[in-house]
Amino acid sequence: MEMETEYFECQCDCSEHVLRFVIDPDSGDVWSEVYLNHWHPWYQRLWIAIKYVCGRKSRYGAFDCTMLRLEDYPRFNSMLDRSAAILQASRGALK
Ligand SMILES: [Zn+2]
Repeated sequence: MEMETEYFECQCDCSEHVLRFVIDPDSGDVWSEVYLNHWHPWYQRLWIAIKYVCGRKSRYGAFDCTMLRLEDYPRFNSMLDRSAAILQASRGALK
């Protein structure tokens, strides 16, 4: 079967905050994909990467956020329900 894809836009309309969810219709697994922004020039990103490789953590983390739109809640719930149904059928009861 073909993968199912759902896109959810952020309340702020920023295209960088769009979340892409993919459901494997065979296994029921769901994964999300997010856009990774390039906020810094290349030399700062290189410095951040070196610190990351060396295991240093930023005290602020490397996060951004997406605020789901109220009108997307039913579609989001439906996506998770479909995933749960497939998982339940293939792996047994969910806790
Ligand atoms: Zn946003």
